[in-house]
Amino acid sequence: MPGNEHQLTLPIWNQDEVSATDTDNGNPDHENSDSDVCDNEASGHIQGTLWPELTQDVALQQEDQITEHGEKMGKEGRGETSGEELDLEGLEAECLTCAKCGLRAGCTHVVFGEGNPEARVMLVGEGPGRDEDRQGRPFVGAAGQLLDKILASVGLSRDEVHITNVVKCRPPKNRMPNPDEVLACSHYLDAQINRINPAIIVCLGALATRTLVDKNARITRIRGQWHEKDGILYMPTFHPAALLRDPSKKRPVWEDMKKVKEALENL
Ligand code: SF4
Repeated sequence: MPGNEHQLTLPIWNQDEVSATDTDNGNPDHENSDSDVCDNEASGHIQGTLWPELTQDVALQQEDQITEHGEKMGKEGRGETSGEELDLEGLEAECLTCAKCGLRAGCTHVVFGEGNPEARVMLVGEGPGRDEDRQGRPFVGAAGQLLDKILASVGLSRDEVHITNVVKCRPPKNRMPNPDEVLACSHYLDAQINRINPAIIVCLGALATRTLVDKNARITRIRGQWHEKDGILYMPTFHPAALLRDPSKKRPVWEDMKKVKEALENL
């Protein structure tokens, strides 16, 4: 695909003016986690449920729980599926009244996602943070503002894309969603993808990458590499919250997003 890198200069957000001033917003940086993952099978776009926040030691301690969950998932599949007849608005209405996992009890708003319902590009993060939970919108805090700059740096805007998360309710203290929560919420993400039918999905961080691309993936190894499944191109990259913590990740994300823009122009 012909590149357009020559048209893009290093954007201001890619320099060091943004610092981790609001780590309670968006989600923590779990991208370097090398922990174990549930070896579950799931249908649709979902690759299985995950346990990526754990260190190896803790993951081993949780082995019994993970195995138990895997057996449960094998028996129950991905749980209820939304009516296939629902359009995106209907799906959102259903999601907003959902209480299928424990996250709903601890959050203020269900954050379904927003953007162009016919977007060619979807961006999928981890879960709502503090500001997202307050406003009921995805990526509106510091990480969201950075995401806006990232999009703008390659000539994209929120109006053109659809932005959502793996789980729609804020986990307490921004912890990583647990496998049961990812499982419970997975049909919403799967249905969103089916309704929007994007050409490209940008996986923002480890959880989205493991949920949608490869349940064993390590984001530090596969970010920036295209993956194609069922006619959709997936681009794993770092979560914007990770960039707030580690500005050295800004340039790789910019490079990844330039690839997305280039692919979009060549569809
Ligand atoms: S996180 Fe998902 S499955 Fe759990 S209550 Fe919220 S919308 Fe429902």
